[in-house]
Amino acid sequence: AHLDRIAAVDTDLHAFLHVAGDAALATAARIDAQRAAGEALGPLAGVPIAIKDVLATQDMPTTAGSKILEGWIPPYDATVVARLRAAGLVPLGKTNMDEFAMGSSTEHSAYGVTRNPWDRDRIPGGSGGGSAAAVSAYEAPLALGSDTGGSIRQPAAVTGSVGVKPTYGGVSRYGAIALASSLDQVGPVSRTVYDSALLHDVIGGHDPLDSTSLSDSWPSMAAAARAGLADGALKGVRVGVIKELSGDGFQAGVSQRFTETLALMSAAGAEIVEVSAPNFEYAVAAYYLILPAEASSNLARFDSVRFGIRVNPAEGSLTSERVMAATREAGFGPEVKRRIILGTYALSTGYYDAYYGSAQKVRTLIQRDFEAAFAQVDVLVSPSAPTTAFKFGEKLDDPMAMYLNDVTTIPANLAGVPGMSLPIGLAPEDGLPVGLQIMAPAKADARLYTVGAAIE
Ligand code: GLN
Repeated sequence: AHLDRIAAVDTDLHAFLHVAGDAALATAARIDAQRAAGEALGPLAGVPIAIKDVLATQDMPTTAGSKILEGWIPPYDATVVARLRAAGLVPLGKTNMDEFAMGSSTEHSAYGVTRNPWDRDRIPGGSGGGSAAAVSAYEAPLALGSDTGGSIRQPAAVTGSVGVKPTYGGVSRYGAIALASSLDQVGPVSRTVYDSALLHDVIGGHDPLDSTSLSDSWPSMAAAARAGLADGALKGVRVGVIKELSGDGFQAGVSQRFTETLALMSAAGAEIVEVSAPNFEYAVAAYYLILPAEASSNLARFDSVRFGIRVNPAEGSLTSERVMAATREAGFGPEVKRRIILGTYALSTGYYDAYYGSAQKVRTLIQRDFEAAFAQVDVLVSPSAPTTAFKFGEKLDDPMAMYLNDVTTIPANLAGVPGMSLPIGLAPEDGLPVGLQIMAPAKADARLYTVGAAIE
Protein backbone atom coordinates (compact mmCIF):
# COMPACT_ATOMS: atom_id res chain seq x y z
CA ALA A 1 0.00 0.00 0.00
CA HIS A 2 2.83 2.39 0.82
CA LEU A 3 4.61 1.61 -2.47
CA ASP A 4 1.32 2.30 -4.28
CA ARG A 5 1.00 5.58 -2.44
CA ILE A 6 4.58 6.50 -3.42
CA ALA A 7 3.81 5.64 -7.05
CA ALA A 8 0.70 7.83 -6.89
CA VAL A 9 2.12 10.97 -5.30
CA ASP A 10 5.91 10.98 -5.42
CA THR A 11 6.34 12.05 -9.05
CA ASP A 12 5.01 15.38 -7.85
CA LEU A 13 6.31 15.49 -4.23
CA HIS A 14 9.73 13.95 -4.86
CA ALA A 15 10.30 12.91 -1.26
CA PHE A 16 12.31 9.87 -2.39
CA LEU A 17 15.64 9.69 -4.20
CA HIS A 18 15.44 5.91 -4.36
CA VAL A 19 12.44 3.59 -3.91
CA ALA A 20 13.23 0.04 -2.80
CA GLY A 21 10.26 -1.42 -4.75
CA ASP A 22 10.66 -5.18 -5.21
CA ALA A 23 13.33 -5.34 -2.50
CA ALA A 24 10.82 -3.91 0.00
CA LEU A 25 8.17 -6.43 -1.12
CA ALA A 26 10.69 -9.25 -0.74
CA THR A 27 11.55 -8.13 2.81
CA ALA A 28 7.86 -7.93 3.69
CA ALA A 29 7.24 -11.40 2.20
CA ARG A 30 10.13 -12.83 4.22
CA ILE A 31 8.66 -11.38 7.43
CA ASP A 32 5.24 -12.78 6.52
CA ALA A 33 6.80 -16.22 6.05
CA GLN A 34 8.54 -15.97 9.43
CA ARG A 35 5.24 -14.99 11.03
CA ALA A 36 3.45 -17.91 9.35
CA ALA A 37 6.18 -20.27 10.59
CA GLY A 38 5.65 -19.03 14.14
CA GLU A 39 9.16 -17.54 14.42
CA ALA A 40 9.87 -14.79 16.92
CA LEU A 41 9.57 -11.40 15.20
CA GLY A 42 11.14 -8.06 15.98
CA PRO A 43 9.09 -5.40 17.79
CA LEU A 44 8.16 -3.43 14.65
CA ALA A 45 8.10 -6.36 12.23
CA GLY A 46 6.54 -5.46 8.90
CA VAL A 47 6.31 -1.70 9.49
CA PRO A 48 7.60 0.26 6.48
CA ILE A 49 10.13 3.04 6.96
CA ALA A 50 11.78 5.74 4.84
CA ILE A 51 15.48 6.47 5.40
CA LYS A 52 17.20 9.82 4.94
CA ASP A 53 19.86 9.51 2.26
CA VAL A 54 22.58 10.57 4.71
CA LEU A 55 22.51 7.06 6.24
CA ALA A 56 24.61 4.29 4.72
CA THR A 57 22.58 1.38 3.30
CA GLN A 58 24.41 -1.54 1.75
CA ASP A 59 21.59 -2.41 -0.66
CA MET A 60 20.63 1.09 -1.79
CA PRO A 61 22.53 4.08 -3.20
CA THR A 62 23.57 6.66 -0.61
CA THR A 63 24.23 10.16 -1.93
CA ALA A 64 23.64 12.59 0.98
CA GLY A 65 21.90 14.70 -1.67
CA SER A 66 25.22 15.34 -3.43
CA LYS A 67 26.41 14.78 -7.00
CA ILE A 68 29.81 13.81 -5.62
CA LEU A 69 28.32 10.55 -4.26
CA GLU A 70 26.13 9.79 -7.26
CA GLY A 71 25.75 6.03 -7.64
CA TRP A 72 27.69 5.16 -4.48
CA ILE A 73 26.49 2.01 -2.72
CA PRO A 74 28.13 1.71 0.71
CA PRO A 75 29.77 -1.60 1.70
CA TYR A 76 27.97 -1.56 5.07
CA ASP A 77 24.79 -0.44 6.85
CA ALA A 78 24.68 2.42 9.36
CA THR A 79 24.09 1.01 12.85
CA VAL A 80 20.59 2.54 12.94
CA VAL A 81 19.77 0.87 9.63
CA ALA A 82 21.10 -2.49 10.86
CA ARG A 83 18.97 -2.10 14.00
CA LEU A 84 15.79 -1.31 12.14
CA ARG A 85 16.31 -4.28 9.84
CA ALA A 86 16.85 -6.51 12.89
CA ALA A 87 13.59 -5.18 14.38
CA GLY A 88 11.76 -6.27 11.21
CA LEU A 89 11.09 -2.83 9.76
CA VAL A 90 10.87 -2.72 5.98
CA PRO A 91 13.00 -0.04 4.25
CA LEU A 92 10.93 1.65 1.53
CA GLY A 93 13.75 3.75 0.13
CA LYS A 94 15.99 6.78 0.62
CA THR A 95 14.69 10.31 1.06
CA ASN A 96 15.74 13.64 -0.39
CA MET A 97 17.75 16.17 1.60
CA ASP A 98 19.85 19.29 1.30
CA GLU A 99 23.32 18.38 0.07
CA PHE A 100 25.30 16.96 3.02
CA ALA A 101 22.42 18.13 5.27
CA MET A 102 23.28 21.81 4.77
CA GLY A 103 20.07 23.78 4.59
CA SER A 104 16.59 24.40 5.92
CA SER A 105 14.49 23.87 2.79
CA THR A 106 15.81 20.83 0.83
CA GLU A 107 16.38 23.29 -2.04
CA HIS A 108 20.12 22.58 -1.82
CA SER A 109 19.68 18.95 -2.94
CA ALA A 110 21.61 18.16 -6.13
CA TYR A 111 18.61 16.09 -7.22
CA GLY A 112 15.82 18.68 -7.23
CA VAL A 113 13.39 19.95 -4.60
CA THR A 114 10.83 18.09 -2.47
CA ARG A 115 7.39 19.68 -2.27
CA ASN A 116 5.49 20.27 0.97
CA PRO A 117 2.36 18.06 0.87
CA TRP A 118 0.35 20.87 2.52
CA ASP A 119 1.13 23.37 -0.24
CA ARG A 120 3.18 22.24 -3.20
CA ASP A 121 4.61 25.71 -3.84
CA ARG A 122 6.31 25.60 -0.46
CA ILE A 123 9.40 23.98 1.02
CA PRO A 124 9.11 20.88 3.26
CA GLY A 125 11.81 22.17 5.58
CA GLY A 126 15.36 20.92 5.66
CA SER A 127 17.69 19.38 5.56
CA GLY A 128 15.45 16.31 5.99
CA GLY A 129 12.54 17.57 3.89
CA GLY A 130 12.19 14.22 2.11
CA SER A 131 11.67 12.20 5.31
CA ALA A 132 9.15 14.69 6.71
CA ALA A 133 7.23 15.00 3.43
CA ALA A 134 7.09 11.20 3.06
CA VAL A 135 5.56 10.83 6.53
CA SER A 136 3.22 13.78 6.10
CA ALA A 137 1.96 12.52 2.71
CA TYR A 138 1.32 9.00 4.03
CA GLU A 139 4.06 7.52 1.83
CA ALA A 140 5.65 6.06 4.98
CA PRO A 141 4.44 5.78 8.59
CA LEU A 142 7.96 6.30 9.94
CA ALA A 143 11.20 7.83 8.76
CA LEU A 144 14.74 8.37 9.96
CA GLY A 145 16.32 11.80 9.89
CA SER A 146 19.49 13.47 11.15
CA ASP A 147 19.60 16.69 13.12
CA THR A 148 22.72 18.85 13.32
CA GLY A 149 20.97 22.18 13.76
CA GLY A 150 17.29 21.32 13.37
CA SER A 151 17.07 19.07 10.32
CA ILE A 152 14.62 16.69 11.99
CA ARG A 153 12.60 19.18 14.06
CA GLN A 154 12.08 22.00 11.56
CA PRO A 155 10.92 19.74 8.66
CA ALA A 156 8.61 17.98 11.13
CA ALA A 157 7.22 21.36 12.21
CA VAL A 158 6.47 22.67 8.72
CA THR A 159 4.89 19.39 7.52
CA GLY A 160 2.70 18.76 10.59
CA SER A 161 4.80 15.78 11.72
CA VAL A 162 6.58 14.72 14.90
CA GLY A 163 10.38 14.69 14.94
CA VAL A 164 12.91 14.04 17.69
CA LYS A 165 16.58 14.90 18.06
CA PRO A 166 17.85 12.56 20.80
CA THR A 167 20.48 13.44 23.40
CA TYR A 168 23.93 13.66 21.78
CA GLY A 169 25.39 10.16 22.06
CA GLY A 170 22.02 8.50 22.58
CA VAL A 171 21.75 7.17 19.03
CA SER A 172 24.68 5.84 17.01
CA ARG A 173 26.24 8.03 14.32
CA TYR A 174 28.11 5.09 12.77
CA GLY A 175 27.31 5.11 9.06
CA ALA A 176 25.67 8.54 9.18
CA ILE A 177 27.64 10.66 6.71
CA ALA A 178 29.15 13.32 8.95
CA LEU A 179 28.23 16.98 8.68
CA ALA A 180 29.47 18.32 12.05
CA SER A 181 30.45 15.42 14.26
CA SER A 182 29.99 17.23 17.58
CA LEU A 183 26.40 18.21 16.67
CA ASP A 184 24.97 15.39 14.51
CA GLN A 185 22.30 13.06 15.90
CA VAL A 186 20.06 10.55 14.13
CA GLY A 187 16.40 10.42 15.18
CA PRO A 188 12.81 9.50 14.32
CA VAL A 189 10.12 11.25 12.25
CA SER A 190 6.51 10.08 12.50
CA ARG A 191 2.88 11.18 12.63
CA THR A 192 2.44 10.65 16.39
CA VAL A 193 4.63 11.00 19.47
CA TYR A 194 4.09 7.33 20.31
CA ASP A 195 5.32 6.21 16.87
CA SER A 196 8.54 8.20 17.31
CA ALA A 197 9.00 6.61 20.74
CA LEU A 198 8.67 3.10 19.26
CA LEU A 199 11.31 3.89 16.64
CA HIS A 200 13.59 5.59 19.19
CA ASP A 201 13.56 2.39 21.25
CA VAL A 202 14.68 0.42 18.17
CA ILE A 203 17.55 2.69 17.08
CA GLY A 204 18.81 3.98 20.44
CA GLY A 205 21.38 2.67 22.88
CA HIS A 206 25.11 2.09 23.07
CA ASP A 207 27.10 1.31 19.93
CA PRO A 208 30.77 0.35 20.29
CA LEU A 209 31.31 1.51 16.67
CA ASP A 210 30.63 5.15 17.63
CA SER A 211 33.22 6.56 20.05
CA THR A 212 30.79 9.26 21.23
CA SER A 213 28.00 6.78 21.95
CA LEU A 214 26.85 6.88 25.58
CA SER A 215 27.05 3.61 27.48
CA ASP A 216 23.96 4.41 29.57
CA SER A 217 20.99 2.11 29.62
CA TRP A 218 17.86 3.95 28.55
CA PRO A 219 14.29 3.69 29.77
CA SER A 220 11.61 2.67 27.26
CA MET A 221 10.53 5.76 25.31
CA ALA A 222 7.31 3.98 24.36
CA ALA A 223 6.47 3.46 28.05
CA ALA A 224 7.24 7.15 28.65
CA ALA A 225 4.85 8.13 25.84
CA ARG A 226 2.13 5.88 27.27
CA ALA A 227 2.62 7.56 30.67
CA GLY A 228 1.86 10.87 28.95
CA LEU A 229 -1.58 9.60 27.96
CA ALA A 230 -2.64 9.06 31.57
CA ASP A 231 -4.89 11.64 33.23
CA GLY A 232 -2.96 14.30 35.05
CA ALA A 233 0.33 13.59 33.25
CA LEU A 234 1.10 17.32 33.08
CA LYS A 235 0.18 18.03 36.69
CA GLY A 236 3.04 19.83 38.41
CA VAL A 237 5.32 19.68 35.38
CA ARG A 238 7.39 22.88 35.34
CA VAL A 239 7.48 24.27 31.80
CA GLY A 240 9.95 27.03 30.96
CA VAL A 241 9.09 29.43 28.15
CA ILE A 242 12.36 30.73 26.72
CA LYS A 243 12.05 34.50 26.61
CA GLU A 244 14.63 34.85 23.83
CA LEU A 245 12.76 32.36 21.61
CA SER A 246 9.31 33.89 21.54
CA GLY A 247 7.62 37.13 20.63
CA ASP A 248 9.55 39.37 18.24
CA GLY A 249 10.53 37.89 14.90
CA PHE A 250 7.94 35.11 15.04
CA GLN A 251 5.04 34.87 12.59
CA ALA A 252 1.79 35.98 14.26
CA GLY A 253 -0.04 32.67 13.73
CA VAL A 254 2.95 30.73 15.08
CA SER A 255 2.96 32.81 18.26
CA GLN A 256 -0.82 32.49 18.57
CA ARG A 257 -0.82 28.67 18.44
CA PHE A 258 2.16 28.60 20.81
CA THR A 259 0.37 30.81 23.37
CA GLU A 260 -2.80 28.73 23.10
CA THR A 261 -0.82 25.55 23.70
CA LEU A 262 0.72 27.06 26.84
CA ALA A 263 -2.78 27.88 28.08
CA LEU A 264 -3.90 24.29 27.46
CA MET A 265 -0.86 22.95 29.31
CA SER A 266 -1.55 25.30 32.20
CA ALA A 267 -5.20 24.16 32.31
CA ALA A 268 -3.92 20.56 32.46
CA GLY A 269 -1.92 21.39 35.59
CA ALA A 270 1.47 22.39 34.20
CA GLU A 271 3.26 25.28 35.83
CA ILE A 272 4.29 27.76 33.12
CA VAL A 273 7.19 30.06 33.93
CA GLU A 274 9.29 32.39 31.82
CA VAL A 275 13.02 31.69 31.79
CA SER A 276 15.81 33.66 30.22
CA ALA A 277 18.68 32.20 28.21
CA PRO A 278 20.68 35.35 27.47
CA ASN A 279 23.35 33.69 25.33
CA PHE A 280 20.89 32.04 22.91
CA GLU A 281 21.11 35.29 20.99
CA TYR A 282 24.61 34.25 19.85
CA ALA A 283 23.72 30.62 19.03
CA VAL A 284 23.25 31.08 15.28
CA ALA A 285 26.54 32.97 14.97
CA ALA A 286 28.47 30.36 16.97
CA TYR A 287 26.84 27.46 15.10
CA TYR A 288 27.67 28.90 11.68
CA LEU A 289 31.35 28.94 12.66
CA ILE A 290 31.52 25.58 14.43
CA LEU A 291 29.49 23.74 11.80
CA PRO A 292 31.49 24.92 8.75
CA ALA A 293 34.75 24.29 10.64
CA GLU A 294 33.81 20.67 11.35
CA ALA A 295 32.19 20.21 7.92
CA SER A 296 35.23 21.49 6.02
CA SER A 297 37.29 18.87 7.82
CA ASN A 298 34.75 16.04 7.39
CA LEU A 299 34.25 16.75 3.68
CA ALA A 300 37.99 16.44 2.99
CA ARG A 301 37.40 12.70 2.56
CA PHE A 302 35.61 13.33 -0.75
CA ASP A 303 38.83 13.32 -2.70
CA SER A 304 37.83 11.57 -5.98
CA VAL A 305 39.62 8.40 -4.91
CA ARG A 306 37.71 6.79 -2.07
CA PHE A 307 34.06 7.52 -2.81
CA GLY A 308 31.76 8.54 -5.62
CA ILE A 309 32.48 10.27 -8.88
CA ARG A 310 35.82 11.22 -10.44
CA VAL A 311 36.15 14.13 -12.85
CA ASN A 312 39.28 14.81 -14.85
CA PRO A 313 40.34 18.40 -15.52
CA ALA A 314 39.34 19.64 -18.99
CA GLU A 315 42.98 20.01 -20.06
CA GLY A 316 46.48 19.56 -18.77
CA SER A 317 48.07 16.92 -16.58
CA LEU A 318 46.19 14.40 -14.41
CA THR A 319 47.95 14.93 -11.10
CA SER A 320 46.01 13.72 -8.07
CA GLU A 321 45.67 17.31 -6.89
CA ARG A 322 44.17 18.51 -10.17
CA VAL A 323 41.79 15.55 -10.41
CA MET A 324 40.69 16.16 -6.82
CA ALA A 325 40.09 19.84 -7.55
CA ALA A 326 38.10 19.12 -10.72
CA THR A 327 36.01 16.49 -8.93
CA ARG A 328 35.21 18.75 -5.97
CA GLU A 329 34.47 21.67 -8.30
CA ALA A 330 31.95 19.56 -10.26
CA GLY A 331 30.67 17.43 -7.39
CA PHE A 332 29.86 19.98 -4.67
CA GLY A 333 27.03 22.52 -4.92
CA PRO A 334 27.25 26.22 -3.99
CA GLU A 335 26.13 25.92 -0.33
CA VAL A 336 28.67 23.15 0.35
CA LYS A 337 31.44 25.22 -1.22
CA ARG A 338 30.40 28.27 0.79
CA ARG A 339 30.68 26.33 4.05
CA ILE A 340 34.00 24.69 3.14
CA ILE A 341 35.44 28.16 2.48
CA LEU A 342 33.93 29.57 5.71
CA GLY A 343 35.16 26.64 7.78
CA THR A 344 38.64 26.59 6.30
CA TYR A 345 38.92 30.31 6.96
CA ALA A 346 37.67 30.00 10.54
CA LEU A 347 40.27 27.30 11.24
CA SER A 348 43.21 29.02 9.58
CA THR A 349 46.29 30.18 11.46
CA GLY A 350 45.79 33.68 12.80
CA TYR A 351 41.98 33.47 12.71
CA TYR A 352 41.45 30.27 14.70
CA ASP A 353 41.24 31.96 18.13
CA ALA A 354 39.17 34.90 16.91
CA TYR A 355 36.52 32.78 15.17
CA TYR A 356 36.54 29.10 16.07
CA GLY A 357 37.88 29.70 19.59
CA SER A 358 35.29 32.40 20.34
CA ALA A 359 32.49 30.25 18.98
CA GLN A 360 33.50 27.41 21.29
CA LYS A 361 33.37 29.79 24.26
CA VAL A 362 29.88 30.90 23.25
CA ARG A 363 28.93 27.23 23.03
CA THR A 364 29.96 26.80 26.68
CA LEU A 365 27.87 29.83 27.69
CA ILE A 366 24.84 28.35 25.93
CA GLN A 367 25.36 25.06 27.76
CA ARG A 368 25.40 27.04 31.03
CA ASP A 369 22.17 28.82 30.04
CA PHE A 370 20.57 25.39 29.66
CA GLU A 371 21.95 24.23 33.03
CA ALA A 372 20.58 27.34 34.76
CA ALA A 373 17.20 26.94 33.08
CA PHE A 374 16.91 23.24 33.90
CA ALA A 375 17.67 24.03 37.54
CA GLN A 376 14.29 25.81 37.54
CA VAL A 377 12.10 23.78 35.16
CA ASP A 378 11.54 20.23 33.88
CA VAL A 379 11.23 21.08 30.19
CA LEU A 380 11.79 24.12 27.99
CA VAL A 381 9.45 25.08 25.17
CA SER A 382 9.43 27.39 22.16
CA PRO A 383 7.92 27.41 18.70
CA SER A 384 9.87 24.89 16.59
CA ALA A 385 10.50 27.45 13.85
CA PRO A 386 9.93 31.20 13.49
CA THR A 387 7.54 30.76 10.53
CA THR A 388 5.43 28.18 8.77
CA ALA A 389 6.72 26.67 5.49
CA PHE A 390 8.05 29.40 3.21
CA LYS A 391 7.81 29.51 -0.59
CA PHE A 392 10.43 28.04 -2.92
CA GLY A 393 13.11 30.59 -3.72
CA GLU A 394 12.15 32.89 -0.85
CA LYS A 395 15.45 32.48 1.03
CA LEU A 396 17.57 30.64 -1.54
CA ASP A 397 19.66 33.63 -2.60
CA ASP A 398 20.03 34.97 0.93
CA PRO A 399 22.08 32.53 3.05
CA MET A 400 21.71 34.71 6.16
CA ALA A 401 17.90 34.59 5.95
CA MET A 402 18.11 30.79 5.59
CA TYR A 403 20.50 30.51 8.56
CA LEU A 404 18.34 32.71 10.82
CA ASN A 405 15.45 30.28 10.33
CA ASP A 406 17.42 27.88 12.59
CA VAL A 407 17.40 30.21 15.62
CA THR A 408 15.02 27.99 17.61
CA THR A 409 16.58 24.61 16.95
CA ILE A 410 20.34 25.28 17.06
CA PRO A 411 20.77 25.75 20.86
CA ALA A 412 19.83 22.11 21.59
CA ASN A 413 22.54 20.83 19.24
CA LEU A 414 25.18 23.13 20.72
CA ALA A 415 24.37 21.80 24.19
CA GLY A 416 23.69 18.18 23.20
CA VAL A 417 20.25 18.17 24.84
CA PRO A 418 17.26 16.35 23.33
CA GLY A 419 14.48 18.17 21.49
CA MET A 420 11.13 17.25 19.97
CA SER A 421 8.81 19.03 17.57
CA LEU A 422 5.13 18.14 17.51
CA PRO A 423 2.20 19.69 15.65
CA ILE A 424 -0.01 22.21 17.49
CA GLY A 425 -2.45 23.20 14.78
CA LEU A 426 -2.44 25.49 11.76
CA ALA A 427 -1.52 29.16 11.53
CA PRO A 428 -4.75 31.08 10.87
CA GLU A 429 -3.21 33.39 8.25
CA ASP A 430 -1.95 30.65 5.89
CA GLY A 431 -3.50 27.37 7.06
CA LEU A 432 -0.06 25.75 7.44
CA PRO A 433 1.20 23.54 10.30
CA VAL A 434 2.89 25.01 13.39
CA GLY A 435 5.25 23.02 15.60
CA LEU A 436 5.94 23.16 19.33
CA GLN A 437 9.51 22.45 20.40
CA ILE A 438 10.09 20.73 23.74
CA MET A 439 13.61 20.37 25.13
CA ALA A 440 14.77 18.38 28.16
CA PRO A 441 18.09 17.96 29.99
CA ALA A 442 20.66 15.61 28.45
CA LYS A 443 19.64 11.96 28.86
CA ALA A 444 16.05 12.92 29.82
CA ASP A 445 14.67 12.06 26.38
CA ALA A 446 11.88 10.03 28.03
CA ARG A 447 10.51 13.27 29.50
CA LEU A 448 9.97 14.63 25.97
CA TYR A 449 7.79 11.66 25.12
CA THR A 450 5.69 11.92 28.26
CA VAL A 451 5.09 15.66 27.90
CA GLY A 452 4.73 15.40 24.10
CA ALA A 453 2.14 12.62 24.28
CA ALA A 454 0.22 14.55 26.95
CA ILE A 455 0.03 17.65 24.74
CA GLU A 456 -0.79 15.74 21.55
N1 GLN B 1 19.60 24.30 8.74
C1 GLN B 1 20.73 23.79 9.44
C2 GLN B 1 21.97 23.95 8.59
O1 GLN B 1 21.82 24.31 7.47
C3 GLN B 1 20.42 22.39 9.83
C4 GLN B 1 21.38 21.35 9.43
C5 GLN B 1 21.05 20.00 9.98
O2 GLN B 1 20.44 19.86 11.04
N2 GLN B 1 21.56 19.00 9.28
O3 GLN B 1 23.05 23.75 9.02
